[in-house]
Amino acid sequence: MTFECPKWPPDWPEIGQSVESVLRSGAWGQYHSDICKQLEKRLSRQFETAVARLCCSGTAALEIALRAQQIGPGDEVILAAYDYPGNFRTVELVGARPVLVDVHPDTVSLDPNLLKAAASPSVRAVIATHLYGQPAQIDAIRLICDQQKWLLIEDACQVMGMTIAGQPAGSFGDLATLSFGGSKLVSAGCGGALLAKSERLAARLGPLLDRPGETYPLAPLQAAAINPQLDRLAELNHRRAANVEWLSDHQAAMPHWRMIENPKARRFPDRDKPDLEDGNHSAPDANDSAPAHYKTAWIANSQTHRTSIIQAAKDRNLPIGAGFRSASRCSSRRCRKPVETPYSQTFGEQLFVLDHRALLVNDDQRKSLLQVLTQLHDDTAKTN
Ligand SMILES: *Cc1c(COP(=O)(O)O)cnc(C)c1O
Repeated sequence: MTFECPKWPPDWPEIGQSVESVLRSGAWGQYHSDICKQLEKRLSRQFETAVARLCCSGTAALEIALRAQQIGPGDEVILAAYDYPGNFRTVELVGARPVLVDVHPDTVSLDPNLLKAAASPSVRAVIATHLYGQPAQIDAIRLICDQQKWLLIEDACQVMGMTIAGQPAGSFGDLATLSFGGSKLVSAGCGGALLAKSERLAARLGPLLDRPGETYPLAPLQAAAINPQLDRLAELNHRRAANVEWLSDHQAAMPHWRMIENPKARRFPDRDKPDLEDGNHSAPDANDSAPAHYKTAWIANSQTHRTSIIQAAKDRNLPIGAGFRSASRCSSRRCRKPVETPYSQTFGEQLFVLDHRALLVNDDQRKSLLQVLTQLHDDTAKTN
């Protein structure tokens, strides 16, 4: 049995109409178009930040954030060992030194209880990433960053439209990054944005973004394709979240896979990490959060188990792939490793993800999604 995967990027007529109107108006051929300025205003309203600036990718957004703060040689930046690998590379690229901490097993985002152990006079910033529809423990991270006077950069590239205790993801950091990349919840093929908490922080982005030519631009045609997707983001996030919840309710049918999910509903068992037991590492209350699932994640029993799941998923047309490679084993010449990172390492080897396009199924189709998933689970159970 194979899966009929919903189409992505979306082929909605309103995207065509929006692009066509920008073609007709001539705005497609302009620098500094109104449509791009309006999109920046729209994003700053939606994300409740002082300023939003468009740029060419989520990865470039992080580079601009670091450079705008003149973070470079001699500086350190704390991030999770399990994270989008481009974040580590970008810290290196600007000449700063990555400092790795472990992820919290429930949130798959950096564990705030480990931040103090990572402190040094050279630390300038922390990168906190929300992954797989799970909010990072962003309040606790924010508090420590304020105490230590570290810049908080929030990577919201995967969670556009997620709210945490009623507040949009992307509004907690001093600066935050968004992506309109080809695989993301809102796609322009490529593209990104920077959110700045204050005018003062935004002012520092200007010299990099406007020189006076636009250095990392997003084109008016891309903005035209983005707008209709933003109109429907909340609706689609809701549908994806409902389907994830439904899969979570049926986890008993997939006992060899451990789902990363609402930490209040089911917690990932602490494996062999007794030193996590004494800290107050309770995960955030996800009850009043609206998730945004770019991927939903499970943990396989071993790396070979994961390999067989991914292989067998291909044959069934299920968009399942490996998670990120962990930086846990990265040479200490390239980074500082003040704490052990066992969860990051496990996730780097055993985590696999189902893409958001599969989470767009309607109520009828989701029975077949579950059926294909449980078949896949059963057929690969022996490779544990
Ligand atoms: C995709 C992604 C990025 C980078 O976005 P691009 O626009 O592809 O450069 C950054 N962080 C995370 C967590 C991502 O998933």
